[in-house]
Amino acid sequence: MCNIGKIIKRNRIKCKVCGDVIESKSVYDFVTCSCKRCYVDGCRGV
Ligand SMILES: [Zn+2]
Repeated sequence: MCNIGKIIKRNRIKCKVCGDVIESKSVYDFVTCSCKRCYVDGCRGV
């Protein structure tokens, strides 16, 4: 679970650690940021 990043939209999050903005484009899409501390998967974000 990621409590570091900020959820910008439903499927998008910005990591406070590395500054990456990652976005999941589908329900089955699992995306991590550069430092791997944050992730989004599908429609839930975190
Ligand atoms: Zn990060």
